[in-house]
Amino acid sequence: MSRDVGVDLYEVDLYVKFRELLYSGVVRIHVRSGGDLLLNAVDLSIGSVRVNDIVVDYNYDGRVLRVRGPVDGVVEVRFEGKVPDRLLGIYRAPYPGGYIVTTQFEPTGARYFIPCIDNPTAKARFRVRVWVDGDYDVLFNTPPTRVYWDGGWKVFEFAETPRMSTYLLYLGIGKFFELRDRVGNVDVVFATPLRDRVNDGAFALDVAKRVLNFYSDYFGIPYMLPKLHLIHVPEFAAGAMENWGAITFRETAILVGKGSTELTRRRVAEVVAHEIAHQWFGDLVTMRWWDDLWLNESFATFMSYKALDRLFPDWGVWYRFLADETTGSMLRDSLMSTHPVHVPIRSEEEAFEIFDDISYGKGASLLRMLEGYVGEEDFRRGLGNYLRRFSYSNASEDDLWRSIEEVSGKPVMRVMKAWVDKPGHPVITVERRGDGVGLRQYRFLLNGNVSDSWPVPIVYRVNGEVRRALMEGSSAVLNESQPMFLNVDGVGYYHVNYGNDFSTALSNAINHFERWSVINDAYLHLLQGSISLSEYLSLIRSLANTVNYLLTSTITMQLGTLYSISPNAVKDAFIEYLRAQSKGLEGLIGLDDVRELVLARRALVDETFARSIARRNH
Ligand SMILES: [Zn+2]
Repeated sequence: MSRDVGVDLYEVDLYVKFRELLYSGVVRIHVRSGGDLLLNAVDLSIGSVRVNDIVVDYNYDGRVLRVRGPVDGVVEVRFEGKVPDRLLGIYRAPYPGGYIVTTQFEPTGARYFIPCIDNPTAKARFRVRVWVDGDYDVLFNTPPTRVYWDGGWKVFEFAETPRMSTYLLYLGIGKFFELRDRVGNVDVVFATPLRDRVNDGAFALDVAKRVLNFYSDYFGIPYMLPKLHLIHVPEFAAGAMENWGAITFRETAILVGKGSTELTRRRVAEVVAHEIAHQWFGDLVTMRWWDDLWLNESFATFMSYKALDRLFPDWGVWYRFLADETTGSMLRDSLMSTHPVHVPIRSEEEAFEIFDDISYGKGASLLRMLEGYVGEEDFRRGLGNYLRRFSYSNASEDDLWRSIEEVSGKPVMRVMKAWVDKPGHPVITVERRGDGVGLRQYRFLLNGNVSDSWPVPIVYRVNGEVRRALMEGSSAVLNESQPMFLNVDGVGYYHVNYGNDFSTALSNAINHFERWSVINDAYLHLLQGSISLSEYLSLIRSLANTVNYLLTSTITMQLGTLYSISPNAVKDAFIEYLRAQSKGLEGLIGLDDVRELVLARRALVDETFARSIARRNH
């Protein structure tokens, strides 16, 4: 849509016939436009258009409503719409015994709802009133300031929103059952149309309260709206959606009942933490265009792990982060067919087609590497500055890097641009040279390294002391005469080639993140043909008795793949590993035959897989 448009306020009056699934409305848009005003409006019936109270001609092709410009003042559009079963825009979501009317607008659903400038940068305030023809509840981004009856209509007048993007609007109509709580001045409310499931929202509500406190402290910015709804939507295309103050969830991402598994509880906590992170990163500060969708999603994912690590320290969520976000994306990023994290996006729909596990898994892993590079405190302060500077407005990826660069004094912009704009990632070879350590980097590819380089933030450890360096260009020397471990906490998105000495590296690792990084490096070098199977298997053997989600799932997955490639070469080692593991995994294994061992492996791997699928919510 045209960029020379300034929009300030929408006054929206809607008349909803709930049983007939029809609505009519009037929207008054306070707007200025240099040329013709183009409003997005899909499949609506347009009744009339007035500019500053004068009826004007318009052109409407079913998608765009064009009003002759320039326009300066109030554009009033009368329109009618239907509520289909479409899962996009405004739609009917049935459940046994009834339905609700609900909305899903990201990326372009708002234009199916009302005529609007449906672009994330066209932020405006929304003053909304809804008339509904019966005793229903109406949920919106803000709470109602007044509810009253007007003839047969129940009327809801909602508090004006802050400046926000259209894709974050929400409207829900029907009968809702609620659990309410409060954090400071904020009402936190779980809502479901299913009366008998209302108590199954208690866990999510509790997590939401604690996560709100965590983020308010972490960002140094209190939550901005008077209330936050967590809404269970019975028919929902996404996993969840971060509408500002009115987050929607599909059943499996919000309800925790008596029969729910531990996995369900964790998933619900993760989705709640993810969506609430968006209330700041995404909703308060919104990307300028959809090419930064990867950052919006990677960031919320990264923050959700941070929040859950604080709330549930015994869950070991960072093990899951490496297993779910990093391991798979590094493997795919080692193929020629990979693509950069940031790619140009021409249309809204394209953003949702192009972005995949590389965009999000690698994106989130790069944020972890960045935090490791600048340190937790500078990362947090830079982020807080970014969110304050662009509150109620829009920003791009560069604005975030600049804010962290200012605080840390490190070349964050240059480093991060190199990592997100270029496909692939490096491998660093390590070679002891007299009194120093010689490092060389290449682009790592399974079919052979090629020359290329990144500015690589290296966090390494010598004699128990953590040191940082930025490796630039294809080679560097570290003046360290003592033994060192190169990828502290496995925080770097690169591989290390230890020559013939992966086993020394493994013995220098001091935690499971570092053991994982050595094993992951060894496995990819094995697939590349750079180390022998026997060397790889001897590393695995030394970890046979170490039971840990990250290591166990990574190694069983690797052995399973190798077994399918070459059963005879791997069979004995696979059985040996799973037998040793089974002592720590009561009842899961204890099988002799390889076929059943593979099934047991699947039980572990499927869990990882289910999580990586489940995670693909907005
Ligand atoms: Zn998201």
